[in-house]
Amino acid sequence: MAFPHPNPAPRASRGKVQGTAVAPGLALGSVQIVLTGPLDVPTWSVKREDVPFEIGRLAAALNAAAERLEERQRAVAATAGAKDAEIFAVHRMILKDPHAMGEVEHAISEQRINAEAAVKLLIERYQERFSKLEGDNVRNLGSDVSDPWRYVLNVLLERDREQVLQADERVILAAAELTPAVVTFLERERLLAVIAETGGRFSHGAVLARSLGLPSVVGLPNLLARLEQGMQVAVDGDRGTVLLAPTEAQVTDFQERKRSLESRRESFRAEAGLPGTTLDGRSISVQVNVESVRDLDTFDLAHTDGIGLLRTEFLYLERNEFPSEEEQYRLYRRVLERMGGRPTTLRLLDIGGDKPLPYFQTPSEANPALGWRGIRITLRWRDLLRVQLRALLRSSTAGDLRILMPMISSLEEVREVRSLFAEIRSQLGEQGYPTADDVPVGAMIEVPSALLELERIVREVDFVSVGTNDLVQYLLAADRDNPWVSGLYDPHHPAVVRALAQVAEVAVRAGKSCSVCGEMASDPAVAVLLLGFGYDSVSVAPQFVPEIKYAVRHSRHADLVELAAQVLAQDTAQGVRAQLDRVRRSAHA
Ligand code: PEP
Ligand code: MG
Repeated sequence: MAFPHPNPAPRASRGKVQGTAVAPGLALGSVQIVLTGPLDVPTWSVKREDVPFEIGRLAAALNAAAERLEERQRAVAATAGAKDAEIFAVHRMILKDPHAMGEVEHAISEQRINAEAAVKLLIERYQERFSKLEGDNVRNLGSDVSDPWRYVLNVLLERDREQVLQADERVILAAAELTPAVVTFLERERLLAVIAETGGRFSHGAVLARSLGLPSVVGLPNLLARLEQGMQVAVDGDRGTVLLAPTEAQVTDFQERKRSLESRRESFRAEAGLPGTTLDGRSISVQVNVESVRDLDTFDLAHTDGIGLLRTEFLYLERNEFPSEEEQYRLYRRVLERMGGRPTTLRLLDIGGDKPLPYFQTPSEANPALGWRGIRITLRWRDLLRVQLRALLRSSTAGDLRILMPMISSLEEVREVRSLFAEIRSQLGEQGYPTADDVPVGAMIEVPSALLELERIVREVDFVSVGTNDLVQYLLAADRDNPWVSGLYDPHHPAVVRALAQVAEVAVRAGKSCSVCGEMASDPAVAVLLLGFGYDSVSVAPQFVPEIKYAVRHSRHADLVELAAQVLAQDTAQGVRAQLDRVRRSAHA
């Protein structure tokens, strides 16, 4: 028996889609679909005597594509700066690769096909080669290398901007993938936002979108199938949501939010450099989450109290082999130096589950979220942990380093890491490496057993940080990427808020610092609620820092304690949301 899919993707559907926020900002406008994929490429046979003609067409298209790339480079250099424009110089170099050119010419002359069909084959080969490798960053490389060849294809097909250029309104571009070609498809002034089905947060396209200040959301499966050219969409690049064909009421609401957000953003920014202290003098440290070395340049140091979570995975993901101790040491040192003495929390490698490494084969698992991931892997492959701990400890003299253990589910795991930590520290001492006197070690609280064992765990760690992204899914047994149950993944479920309150209560009683570093904390109403629960720190993506500080600075701690009590008295998620809405409304008043 076939069940109807809970989230069908009919053509031109309305509704709200949740994706991944890539570049902040709100935009409402009509959508223009950009087909940058080698779709519908006509293939025809070429007579032997026409082969030189096809190769000539190819050469002319390569020149024209190189010129277009140069134009884009100039345009991007003028708006975003020369550094961001360099990608187009790289694209021009890729087009000069004689090997790739040889492959295309070979297809034309041996298979006797037209130039566009031969270029299409090359693009598909790139995609295929890279898609066999595991890991998002490596897979993204496939599109980075094939992207410039899409320009060539577009020239050959004479299919480019006409369809969009006729319209004089500013548009929201929608594409299959967020690539530099898509982000710069039109001049910046013509663009309101960019949305795409796929594209990494740190792909070149994403970096460019941020530099150009272009709101952007990716991770929207089936997006193109749900859109129609010219359809209205509302993009929220802060929260990673897209409203398709919003109703009149939703449009009014969105515009109101946009207006109020824009005027309020000015006020947020004006106070972003001031401490996160309430009107009655209670402070919370507002820190940032860092997912890439490139992220380090995306926030204003003066606005943040530190790094609450640096996911060291990226260092392992963006390469073909494990990074050496020396490489890790240099990078950690650089991070600590950049943070200028502010608390800097580096999390131990958290691979497995949804974060596989291309060069480290883990068994395929029926249920990876409940499988071999995080500390479970590094305690088994202990050399990974050793190397990382050595690099971390060696870098510790460069700043205020804190080490965070992911996926802790028992006290034994804490003890094992701590004993290895002590062993490595004395080993480094014997080898003459200086290390900081105090390097706090904390546990992520994201597995329900750690929650239930918290009284014991806090005695043996220096701080705790709640990873709500995982905790919510484990507490509610609901995988948010599974459309059959994603509606059950609800961070406002009373069990979740009670768990959050419980962590703070236990940590405060034990005199240990506690923080929340999952996405949930980026909602200012939740951030102030956490302060009411007793948390002394939150860690969020950099774009949320000013608003959270503002919300804290304009609250009274006494009121937040009262809010915490009200929230804990709720029986339903709806009740919790009503309380949070009340906070939002009073913040707007
Ligand atoms: C979390 O689970 O909330 C968290 C911060 O860790 P990650 O998202 O990297 O799993
Ligand atoms: Mg997690």
